[in-house]
Amino acid sequence: MTDLRELLGVRPGHLRLASIDTRSTPGVPDRRAVNDDPKAWSREQVGKIGADLAAYQEKLYASAKEGATDRRVLLVLQAMDCGGKDGTVRNVIGSMNPAGLKAVGFGPPTAEERRHDFLWRIRRALPPSGYVGIFNRSHYEDVLVVRVHQLIPESEWAKRYDIINAFEQELADDGLTMVKVMLHISREEQRERLLARLDDPTKRWKYNPGDLTERARWQDYQQAYEDALNRCSTPAAPWYVVPADRKWYRNWAVATLLRQALADIDPRYPKADFDVAAERQRVLTAP
Ligand code: AMP
Ligand code: MG
Repeated sequence: MTDLRELLGVRPGHLRLASIDTRSTPGVPDRRAVNDDPKAWSREQVGKIGADLAAYQEKLYASAKEGATDRRVLLVLQAMDCGGKDGTVRNVIGSMNPAGLKAVGFGPPTAEERRHDFLWRIRRALPPSGYVGIFNRSHYEDVLVVRVHQLIPESEWAKRYDIINAFEQELADDGLTMVKVMLHISREEQRERLLARLDDPTKRWKYNPGDLTERARWQDYQQAYEDALNRCSTPAAPWYVVPADRKWYRNWAVATLLRQALADIDPRYPKADFDVAAERQRVLTAP
């Protein structure tokens, strides 16, 4: 099977979002099985991958006991509104043990957060050693929404790409594996999902009238995304673009990328730092 990282990874300077078909499904292994019933295929595959994720996660967690390792994983999810970040978290992360997960969403900075530099709240939200972290939005908002709406002058946000690269290199050196994913949907798909949010009372809470203001700036956002991904896809922390109009593909692709990251770390259960046979005897003879 082709390495999904090759297919979806952003080569710095080469990404053109408009040339990616948001309905495409690169890397899907068994076309025939998929064509029959893609959703069923995906559910089954994501279930299997989820079991692997849970097994890796437990080993990672165990291996970090008493500070034995600084390894940890961080899944960064970015997307336009309705891009499927929440659904991805639910479907892909759902199999893992909540005790070893740290999921954080980022909205507009609070008054306190605005008193610090833009990475302050990010540093505080990082997963500890042995954890799998998930960022629903991230420091990339500080070169996306902030740039599109000119919330700070260009001279300020323009510096942030290098600052982000240095920050992410520092994290990589510190044992953190980042999997940065842009869920890439089309403008038409966004309209469908906005309508679904209005038509389905159980989805209405996710609708925000302000989403239309952002939608009106679609092209500006695409440009801001393209620049951010072209400038901040680095060997230490590469970006992946996942075509995300088809939810079944999106779930499978993100789960697969995350599994590859954990497989690379190859976490192992720690060796006992006590005499197992002697302890066994003690348990047997203890009252
Ligand atoms: P949601 O993901 O639907 O909860 O929306 C979160 C909102 O917070 C989005 O409109 C983001 O653009 C906004 N947001 C996230 N980070 C920032 C930031 N650093 N500065 C301004 N707005 C932000
Ligand atoms: Mg929203």
